[in-house]
Amino acid sequence: MQTKILLDEGEMPKRWYNIQADLPLPLDPPLHPATGKPATPDDLRPIFPMELIRQEMSRERYIDIPAEVRDILTLWRPSPLYRARRLEAALKTPAKIYYKWEGVSPPGSHKPNTAIPQAYYNREEGIERLATETGAGQWGSSLAFATSLFDMECTVYMVRSSYEQKPYRKSMMQVYGAECIPSPSLKTRSGRMVLGRDPDTPGSLGIAISEAVEDAASHDNTNYALGSVLNHVCLHQTIIGQEAKQQLAVAEAYPDVVIGCVGGGSNFAGISFPFAGEKITGKHPDIDIIAVEPAACPTLTKGLYTYDYGDVAGLTPIMKMFTLGHDFVPPAIHAGGLRYHGASPLVSRLAHDGVIRPVAYYQNEVFEAAVTFARTEGIVVAPEAAHAVKAAIDEALRCRETGEAKVILFNNSGHGNFDFSSYEAYFAGGLADYEYPVELIKESLSRLPVTG
Ligand SMILES: *Cc1c(COP(=O)(O)O)cnc(C)c1O
Repeated sequence: MQTKILLDEGEMPKRWYNIQADLPLPLDPPLHPATGKPATPDDLRPIFPMELIRQEMSRERYIDIPAEVRDILTLWRPSPLYRARRLEAALKTPAKIYYKWEGVSPPGSHKPNTAIPQAYYNREEGIERLATETGAGQWGSSLAFATSLFDMECTVYMVRSSYEQKPYRKSMMQVYGAECIPSPSLKTRSGRMVLGRDPDTPGSLGIAISEAVEDAASHDNTNYALGSVLNHVCLHQTIIGQEAKQQLAVAEAYPDVVIGCVGGGSNFAGISFPFAGEKITGKHPDIDIIAVEPAACPTLTKGLYTYDYGDVAGLTPIMKMFTLGHDFVPPAIHAGGLRYHGASPLVSRLAHDGVIRPVAYYQNEVFEAAVTFARTEGIVVAPEAAHAVKAAIDEALRCRETGEAKVILFNNSGHGNFDFSSYEAYFAGGLADYEYPVELIKESLSRLPVTG
């Protein structure tokens, strides 16, 4: 029995899988934030390169990965697929647990899978600088890594609570040559507006996005890059699930359960869309696909499926998605990368249609699962990835009850080597299990944009 299944570089997928081709009904179009009319490619041109706008709207099933992008991806891809045999033994489960390990990328998560192609297409279209937001710092350091390889500049607005909790992510961005600014900042109108209302705000992804979009829209040589949520980001991440499918085939296995954690939804999309496509089209109708989120920011389990802004200031297109309201500021939980009020429109549609099944966990049980994983498999995972670990353990324990030998696949989205302050807080008993902040969410949902 193999512990890890590796592919050769030559076996790395040459195309991304676009699940839009297999949706029974097309996605509801994004709307222009000012007019409420469907956004046109021209509306998006001030902040995105043409090719990414094309991919965003494409319904082609497969899109070629450019050779220069593939060449860079081989720095760490194909990533290994592990069989978690020691975890299985500790849980005394008949289930077979496999995980895709995305922590092998230089910044340590799945995010470079899209940072590299995004930087590439922007450079191809003459852009010299990218502006972006980051939560836990994973995306900022990934885009900083990508822009350094393409000789571009990079400005990162980092959610203040994470900027303070995770100083080393900021240092990593500096090593890659990017500028990292705590958000909200005084540099943008959106930042000044939020600070005026609440000077002590921990910040949020929604605020940081407003700042980065404003920066990009007001500079000609600068575009905006988003690390999650959008269709083209989910598309780029499908290299994960496609590789996993090839690797499982080597083990003559196919998953009964596929699991990923959801912040904006991109790593979940990456691991699950190649399988969700086979579920929708009837090839494998029975796969259980589980999206795991924090109970403190329960977008898919408690949000509304409706049109909302992607950011606080209302500068982004209005998207049909599960949302907690664009000005909802989630509690400062340690999985900073999962603190987003919305979710990818594609992931939201699949949740709405019942193709995927969302679940939510509290942070202490999530860290407990992460510690079990570290003490059996050896890897200290990121607090975000720990949500997927927790769900995989729960599914495996359910198999122990029923005696089923299910094949469980989860995405291990990144390492926790910069997250030890969070682990320390967990061991010290200092993590709060925030209750679902029902009043705050209700209030925020009362301020949805008016559309149609
Ligand atoms: C950013 C991040 C996430 C959450 O983002 P998604 O777009 O939902 O994937 C999950 N895990 C890690 C390690 C991250 O860095």
